[in-house]
Amino acid sequence: MNKGRIFDIQRFSIDNGPGIRTTVFLKGCPLRCLWCSNPESQNPEPQLSYTVDTCIGCGECIKVCKPMAILQDSKGKAVVDRVRCTNCGDCAAVCYPGALVMVGHDAEVDEILEVVLRDRDYYASSGGGITVSGGEPLMQPQFLQALLHAARNERLHCCVDTSGFARPEVFDYLRSVVDLWLFDYKETDPLRHYTFTRSELSTILKRLEQLHDTGADIILRCPMIPDHNTRQDHLDGIVALTRRLPNLQGVELLPYFDIWRDKLKRFGITDILPKSVKPPSPETVKSWNDYLRNRGVRLLGADGKVKSSK
Ligand code: SF4
Ligand code: SF4
Repeated sequence: MNKGRIFDIQRFSIDNGPGIRTTVFLKGCPLRCLWCSNPESQNPEPQLSYTVDTCIGCGECIKVCKPMAILQDSKGKAVVDRVRCTNCGDCAAVCYPGALVMVGHDAEVDEILEVVLRDRDYYASSGGGITVSGGEPLMQPQFLQALLHAARNERLHCCVDTSGFARPEVFDYLRSVVDLWLFDYKETDPLRHYTFTRSELSTILKRLEQLHDTGADIILRCPMIPDHNTRQDHLDGIVALTRRLPNLQGVELLPYFDIWRDKLKRFGITDILPKSVKPPSPETVKSWNDYLRNRGVRLLGADGKVKSSK
């Protein structure tokens, strides 16, 4: 399949695998992580984004909205009724200042590759390449296979960033086109895992083990969310997992950051992570890293290189 649904392409990406990369974000995800930094990625359908500060109150959107989902507030700014809105995109087409924008569109492999190849020289000099992220890229396996197959034909290094929540045959299908898997591990306690992500830990662990046993290159990526999964028993769970799966390249901790919260307003999504959850201090992050390192875990930075202990 040569066409897939994406919501962003990020050039000069340095947090999604080794070197300088272009990250292609696919839309749609079966998980519902409380801390999801790309909440617009979850729904596989295109979605209306509205930035109130950009609205000039021209009223053009109101004229074209058939379900009458847009009103004006006392300052003349648009107010979108998300219950009535069908995400048809008619309003975005007439919003000249770009306050209303549809996020998520179908794109051809060739069209994406053309963008990715613009930075080929940077990949060559930095050891980078293409990373496909999401959302959950494994939700579009045929498109992902076609995209990475085309990238490999161009001799690009190919990474996939996954939650691991997919059918076992999808991993087999993709194995020959993926150089490096960035595999999330979010929580050790099964009940908490389900509460935080709405997905079964056992399924994800089975996929991780299956992939590990094929000899694939895998980096375990662990989001660290204060008041949620930063407990010692989860750190111990990471240690235990790396001992059980000795061929993992290493572990990268992803400390929580909160600049994504503004996105929720733009998409009319309810904020479900308590506001009291704040990014951890550098000292706290260092203490997690030290805890793991002292127990023999190979810690990697976002560039895939071993992290120093400083
Ligand atoms: S068309 Fe755009 S700028 Fe005009 S009122 Fe609607 S949202 Fe605001
Ligand atoms: S996306 Fe369609 S239904 Fe939703 S506010 Fe815009 S015009 Fe109305």
